[in-house]
Amino acid sequence: MPAERVDGLVAVLNAVRSAPDGITQAQVAQRIGQGRSFVAQRVRELAAAGLMTSDGLAPSTGGRAPRRLRFRTEAGIVAGADIGATGMVVGLADLSGAVKAHATEAVDVADGPEVVLGRVEQLIEQLADGFPGSRPLWGVGVGVPGPVEFATGRPVAPPIMPGWDGYPIRERMARRFEAAVWVDNDVNLLALAELRTNPQAAASGDVLVAKVGTGIGAGLVSGGRLHRGVNGCAGDIGHVAVAEAEAVVCRCGNRGCLEALAGGAALAREGQRLAACGDSPVMAEMLAATGGLTAADVTRAADRGDVAARLLLARAGRLIGGTLATLISFYNPGLVVLGGGVVAAGDHVLAAIRESVYRRSLPLATRTLRIEPSLLGESAGLVGAVHLVLDALFARDCLTSWLREGSPAGRPELAMATPAAA
Ligand SMILES: [Zn+2]
Repeated sequence: MPAERVDGLVAVLNAVRSAPDGITQAQVAQRIGQGRSFVAQRVRELAAAGLMTSDGLAPSTGGRAPRRLRFRTEAGIVAGADIGATGMVVGLADLSGAVKAHATEAVDVADGPEVVLGRVEQLIEQLADGFPGSRPLWGVGVGVPGPVEFATGRPVAPPIMPGWDGYPIRERMARRFEAAVWVDNDVNLLALAELRTNPQAAASGDVLVAKVGTGIGAGLVSGGRLHRGVNGCAGDIGHVAVAEAEAVVCRCGNRGCLEALAGGAALAREGQRLAACGDSPVMAEMLAATGGLTAADVTRAADRGDVAARLLLARAGRLIGGTLATLISFYNPGLVVLGGGVVAAGDHVLAAIRESVYRRSLPLATRTLRIEPSLLGESAGLVGAVHLVLDALFARDCLTSWLREGSPAGRPELAMATPAAA
């Protein structure tokens, strides 16, 4: 297809995709700066490919009421899987990224790729069985809790994922589903989910998304695009050094990592210590009742007024905030979104992070800065995974190679040929 024709089709399709309530041909023409006959011709082609339809009538501005064009979000289904350290969320979404079916399950990522991906594949099959019309899948997105070389879709020396180093996740799942597969780390998927579904994030374009769960990580959005870095490990802030943590050995093998003092695993460990040494009567009571403490228990103890638990969470928030303040001064985002279990569990850490950021950042960098908790909940990573696929499929070069057939299903090579757009 000649480049000009492709550009026209992509422009018209994107104008219609970005108007979920529908848009008239005249509005499309105005938006992309082309004549109505140009738009009409492309609309016919896109409708023939099954990607667009005209639905209902727009309000008339005098004369015959114009038809409203709508992107056919039901034309295909993509699958996503957000694999965490201890749990996963797997689901199916339409072409707008709206999740249509999902399943949540406990998993130990340390069981290795054969076990974990085998289960992911079963769950996708089960969901697809219960969702008529979902096959063949248009693509699959996978998130894992460790660094990923984005171009190849392979984990690179992931600290908490024994057996996954260099594992060909893309090739394996592409064979199973005969679809293109993209793989990224879980925090990048959170950032992508915010960028595509949170109007504030989309409007800002420069967003820092930090996840404080078992581990700590960040996703960087710059100019509306995810910044992955040369090796895909941009934002791996859990393993930057903080002075206070010098004596602590991290699970990555280094000393002094932020995560080793402020991550969920560290909070649980410190909580146990405080309970055992008698500094925290509330956590001692919890420990006696259940035989173990989690980061969520530390938050519950803080909610009940336990001083040691409050100090522990405040210190974690202060350390995380100090690292975020450095990043904020460095690249000046307009919005910081905080997600992950530790933040979701309560306001103690969030409040300390906020305070620390505002105290430590350059005043100009925080003049209009907003720091908000993520509102996406446990399906955030899944939402990011399906948008990872949709961004890639509808990027110009990729779209060009499947538009004629009207579907990218059965084309695993699309993931190898074209990097994702975002
Ligand atoms: Zn570390």
